[in-house]
Amino acid sequence: MDLIDTHCHMTYEPLAGEIEAVVARSQAAGVTGWIAIGTGAEHNRKAVAMAERFENMYASIGIHPHDAKDVTAAALAELRDLAQSTKVVALGETGLDFHYELSPKPDQRRAFTAQLEIARELNLPVVIHSRDAFDETMDILEQFIQLHGRLRGVVFHCFSGSAEEARIVLDHGFYVSFTGVVTFKNAEKTRAAASAVPFEKLMIETDCPYLSPEPMRKQKTNEPALMIHTARFLAELKQMPLSDFAQAVTAASRSFFGLP
Ligand SMILES: [Zn+2]
Ligand SMILES: [Zn+2]
Repeated sequence: MDLIDTHCHMTYEPLAGEIEAVVARSQAAGVTGWIAIGTGAEHNRKAVAMAERFENMYASIGIHPHDAKDVTAAALAELRDLAQSTKVVALGETGLDFHYELSPKPDQRRAFTAQLEIARELNLPVVIHSRDAFDETMDILEQFIQLHGRLRGVVFHCFSGSAEEARIVLDHGFYVSFTGVVTFKNAEKTRAAASAVPFEKLMIETDCPYLSPEPMRKQKTNEPALMIHTARFLAELKQMPLSDFAQAVTAASRSFFGLP
């Protein structure tokens, strides 16, 4: 099996400090590809450097909506430069987080749009973080596409919306990605959304070191190896053999990120 963890914070501790062991455990579990996600200047640089060290590791770099208030023209220029590294396969995570609202909403909108511009210019797909801001995230994407034309690809990571919202995302040709949250007891809504997403638009991720899936939820630090539980759970939900499920989501992930 060759699953791809499409959203992992490999540069965060404690993962970064034992990255060789994390990668080895992941490979042993059948999770053999990784998209290391950057959330700001420091982690973006680290994610690119880490991706350069491991064969099937790639980087997606961006500035998290939490830090939108600090986004300057210089920060965006640095992001654009770094995004031209060969191992960078996507822009993000970027988007809107009105749940924590750690940056004022106008700053979040501005930083999001600016990153969409970079993605379009460099023809990179975009990894979207959207929390308690579904309608507004869709509005910004729609307006951007209307003004500037299509984006190479868009994925809503750690999807927490309803089945109806998943259908809206799919209607735009975007992808939907699920974390271990889908395995949680109280996640009926997320399971309904996952049921509504066809394989060609479905991806899975850990969002580690956060959100360990059941039955490992008590393990404080999530890591790519544990994504096998999310895969097994979703294969069962979709009523298909794990190997077929793995093949389908891996094909979707390769297509989205343009991996070899
Ligand atoms: Zn996120
Ligand atoms: Zn993340």
